[in-house]
Amino acid sequence: MTKVLVVDDVEDNVVLLTFELEDEGFEVIAAYNGQQCLDKVHEEKPDIILLDIRMPGISGLDTLEQLKANEHTRDIPVIMVSANTADNSIIQALDLGAHDFVSKPIEYPVLSARMRSALRLINARRALVKANEELERLATQDPLTHTYNRRHFFALSEAEYSKSLRHNRPLSVLMIDVDLFKAINDTYGHAAGDTALIALTECCRLATRDSDIFGRLGGEEFALTCPDADLEGAVALAERIRQSCEELTIDAPDGKPFSMTLSIGVTTIAAEDNDFSHTLQRADKLLYQAKALGRNRSVSC
Ligand code: GH3
Ligand code: MG
Ligand code: MG
Repeated sequence: MTKVLVVDDVEDNVVLLTFELEDEGFEVIAAYNGQQCLDKVHEEKPDIILLDIRMPGISGLDTLEQLKANEHTRDIPVIMVSANTADNSIIQALDLGAHDFVSKPIEYPVLSARMRSALRLINARRALVKANEELERLATQDPLTHTYNRRHFFALSEAEYSKSLRHNRPLSVLMIDVDLFKAINDTYGHAAGDTALIALTECCRLATRDSDIFGRLGGEEFALTCPDADLEGAVALAERIRQSCEELTIDAPDGKPFSMTLSIGVTTIAAEDNDFSHTLQRADKLLYQAKALGRNRSVSC
């Protein structure tokens, strides 16, 4: 049910408005001055506010200004109620962010039509914000593991890389690849392979700091950028990830439990590096050395 906060210092006005609005199917909460409105808006989280302009104490305009200044209340549509539309208070209210106004004496069908219009707009805006968040998520996340996708991993890592160079601070990079993953797929099925990739992601999430950047570069290949980590720290991290992954028993969705191992290439910014991909390429070469040396190991330089 749509919740309306009615703010008016004259009790009779509130009673009348409540009666009419409840008849229209709204849930009504009352406040009798600006301060009560500011308190109740946080307690009750109304969907819409009807705000009298002329009130003793904090005026309707001041109340509106405070509502619009607070990030938790600024998006609640406010319809101003005014006995006097001849002065410029309506203009001020609209400029301060009021959605609309009605004049006293109130014509209830007009008021409820304006409320419906305000609510339609606010719902459309909310849907747009949600759709934008979803688009942002789709553009930056890998759909299977919900880690960063390749493009976003590079964007974030390049930014951290520049920062590290500027402040002369260490930054290390890990390239992580599942060993003989094709055999896991072939033996236990593709769904089991997917479950293994999700388990690997969880392992990395548990082992890393919030400031580390973890992404799926493709297939069963992942990379981790660790700002403020020197080579020694990064090697220790790689070993933690490798060991915790090796200890995992993965339940195939419809098969036997199995385990997996990882090979990891670890490196840090070197004097000859001029960009992030340079450093990452070295981590990739080290990863292939780990494979060549028999897998299930990390190799660093
Ligand atoms: P190596 O130890 O040398 O890395 O061997 P590997 O088998 O892990 O490497 P290879 O590149 O030969 O095989 C990777 C396999 O990963 C082949 C591909 O079908 C599989 N793969 C890629 N993406 C996915 C995915 O999203 N889910 C699953 N289940 N398998 C995937
Ligand atoms: Mg592999
Ligand atoms: Mg691979």
